[in-house]
Amino acid sequence: MTTRPPVLTSNEIPSWEPEGDFYGVVGWPVGHSLSPILHQAALDALGIPAKYFAFEISAEDLPRLLPILAAKGAKGLNLTAPHKQIVLPYLTGLSDIAQQARAANTVSFLPGGEIYGHNTDALGFSRAIREVFMLDLRGLRVLILGAGGAARAVALQCVLEDADEVVIVNRTFEKAHEIIQEMKKIRVSTRLLGPQEPLRAVPLEVELVRQVLDHIDLVVNCTTLGMKTGDASPLPQRCFQPHHMVFDTIYCPTRTPLIREASQAGARVANGLSMLLHQAALSFEFWFAREAPIEVMRTALKGALGM
Ligand code: NAP
Repeated sequence: MTTRPPVLTSNEIPSWEPEGDFYGVVGWPVGHSLSPILHQAALDALGIPAKYFAFEISAEDLPRLLPILAAKGAKGLNLTAPHKQIVLPYLTGLSDIAQQARAANTVSFLPGGEIYGHNTDALGFSRAIREVFMLDLRGLRVLILGAGGAARAVALQCVLEDADEVVIVNRTFEKAHEIIQEMKKIRVSTRLLGPQEPLRAVPLEVELVRQVLDHIDLVVNCTTLGMKTGDASPLPQRCFQPHHMVFDTIYCPTRTPLIREASQAGARVANGLSMLLHQAALSFEFWFAREAPIEVMRTALKGALGM
């Protein structure tokens, strides 16, 4: 097993003295993140003299600590829950995809104090689905659980790749509705539409979702439910059928309650490790404008998991 680097907390960051350029992942919590292992392996393999750290920063502390990290030599950061949308007001520029998703999982600190945001979750998700299920998103009927930063990226990529249907289910219904309204403006499909509205929000009510699932191919969990020990599955086993593909964006634990429920119902399942790998490779390419050593990163990931 590869050892994970220590996590720096909000209290420790102001007096911390890094040596040279650094990169990192910011989240709350962040101790589970495998990003430091992936990125450090890539930096080392290419002989880039920089370190990659994990920063445990709450939503309230992010505005205060972002300029401090920049002043200490941060060159790039990955953002995980809950920061992907919270960070937007502090960025001076956004890539098209981050702008369309209204979520950033990668930022670059540029000379002159600029902080530029990008989103690699969207394409990383698509590459992961191709890798684990050997499928393109085009033509699929997709149900997304959650309406935070990850859900925004997944929904956007489904729309950009012309998925047949995108249904968003969220505990806070208004957030799902808001994403759907934004996606309707982006959708440019020329396909004939069926009787069902292809982009729609549905409240998180199990029986309602179960009926919708009859006509869904791919279920994607973009909630944080399943990360903590004792978490329930967002949906029970009776919702799933053997024709479903169920992708949980969570990768720690590798077997989430959702994956357990869905596989017991005979569905094909995958966790978020493939998405983690592909979004990380895309972040690396964004920072360094060169191809990421993806097989080195994959090997590091397997090593960290003892696979
Ligand atoms: P976020 O912006 O904080 O959104 C969290 C979502 O989870 C919200 O929709 C929230 O619903 C929902 N939620 C939280 N607790 C819930 C509960 N008890 N019951 C039902 N819904 C609940 O987080 P994010 O950045 O989108 O990340 C979401 C997940 O995606 C995380 O687990 C993250 O690890 C994973 N992810 C993985 C990858 C990868 O590479 N594998 C990449 C990106 C994200 P409300 O709106 O009602 O609060």
